Amino acid sequence: MNLDQLYRSLITDHAKNPRRKGLKGYPSCHLRNPSCGDEITIEALVEKGKVREVNHDGHGCSICCASASILCELTSGKSKEEVDKIIHEYYKMIQGDENLDEELLEDALALHGVAQFPARTKCATISWKALEEVLGENHES
Ligand code: ZN
Repeated sequence: MNLDQLYRSLITDHAKNPRRKGLKGYPSCHLRNPSCGDEITIEALVEKGKVREVNHDGHGCSICCASASILCELTSGKSKEEVDKIIHEYYKMIQGDENLDEELLEDALALHGVAQFPARTKCATISWKALEEVLGENHES
């Protein structure tokens, strides 16, 4: 199995068996991508500068669903600072930057191919934008 096949199977796996799907009622943000029909809600529990838990719900194409699942798994339990860095690095990757911190991105690297399909960029970033909004509103409890 080469790297591209590995990435593709990761995306399929996350799309079919999404991690952290289902909301628990934490502060959330709902975003839609009308061009593709993607609709996603991201919620996050933030305590003392730590992103304790990130969950998602919604539906859409496999890129959208896989990226939401990967996002929630990757950011749950990290500090807000780390999450900001991960999100920044992810946007760099989607824009086609190849000088990436692979340790930060982990499974999100599977979506690096999206950079070659500008029309799908929104699918891959919608859940990340939603998390940014939730964190930006700074719902500390
Ligand atoms: Zn989509």
